[in-house]
Amino acid sequence: MTKAMDPRWREVSWRQALSHATPAVARLLEKSLEGRELDFDGGLALATVKGSDLLALVKVADEMRRQKVGDRITYVVNRNLNFTNICIVGCAFCGFSRGPKAKDAYFHSTETLLAKTREALALGATEVCIQGGLPRDLNGNYYAELLGAIHSQLPHLHLHAYSPMEISYGVEKTGLSLRDYLIRLKEVGLGSIPGTAAEILDDDVRGDLSPNKLKVSRWIDVITLIVHALARILLNDHIPNLQVSWVKLGFDGALACLEAGANDFSGTLMEESISKAAGADFGESVLPGELRAMIRSIGRVPAERDTAYGIRRVFAEADADERLPVERLAARHAPIGVGY
Ligand code: SF4
Repeated sequence: MTKAMDPRWREVSWRQALSHATPAVARLLEKSLEGRELDFDGGLALATVKGSDLLALVKVADEMRRQKVGDRITYVVNRNLNFTNICIVGCAFCGFSRGPKAKDAYFHSTETLLAKTREALALGATEVCIQGGLPRDLNGNYYAELLGAIHSQLPHLHLHAYSPMEISYGVEKTGLSLRDYLIRLKEVGLGSIPGTAAEILDDDVRGDLSPNKLKVSRWIDVITLIVHALARILLNDHIPNLQVSWVKLGFDGALACLEAGANDFSGTLMEESISKAAGADFGESVLPGELRAMIRSIGRVPAERDTAYGIRRVFAEADADERLPVERLAARHAPIGVGY
């Protein structure tokens, strides 16, 4: 059993949890279990639940996950490639970007990025995720050239690349239309575009953001379990695969979310700079065997997937590479209080 979970929390069935919820919350959760969509007020009511109601939300989300996608937890073997940390944008919350003259500014050569990509392939990666800062003097063709350089040598590797901001910067630099620019990237090897991290999609709020970095502990305080459980309840019929970010949540937090409606452990990453620079200290890399051991520790079945959630291999039985990363499972979060 993973130490991430309070044992009392794990032993409660969804039916027991539901029977202890307040009538209004129980009605909303029963409606979700029947496959009926909640309206805005219903969703809002669930977003603010606490105590026994929160336990019921989490347990029902986990049951809906079981009914929708079964007991597999998927992961992808991938590597992040952050080609530069030089950026002119100056987002207030960013701890990753540097000015071009900063001592620790870097812009990796294409040869270095190809070497990192080959290392990833040797470790079983099926995907590289490419993102970076936005340097002022970036050649408008850089994004396409980098994709082309990797794709021409490693055509079977999935290239998951560039944030909407980078795509927009490339459009600006080249003068192409967005459509033509995307077609060009696709022609040279782009496989998909990352969803990127959570954004506050409100210009007033963005403008008011504090320049102080958001600490991960605070972020966890704010979002733990509600978000993933709520996503399963509200999006179950539309988005079957819900991913957790172990870089931001830590393994304990990620495992807790995987028992609250989520079903994907994200990727091995192999190196991760952006969340780390923003204060996350849960590590940059995890081995596939470590992911599998953690998945099995909560009684679920690990499966390696590709970028598009196609299953590459199901690991029905434990293998010799599986090992719990015990040194990184030390800080425990009891995700919710159990009131009975
Ligand atoms: S690297 Fe990304 S998040 Fe950081 S300042 Fe540049 S655009 Fe903003």
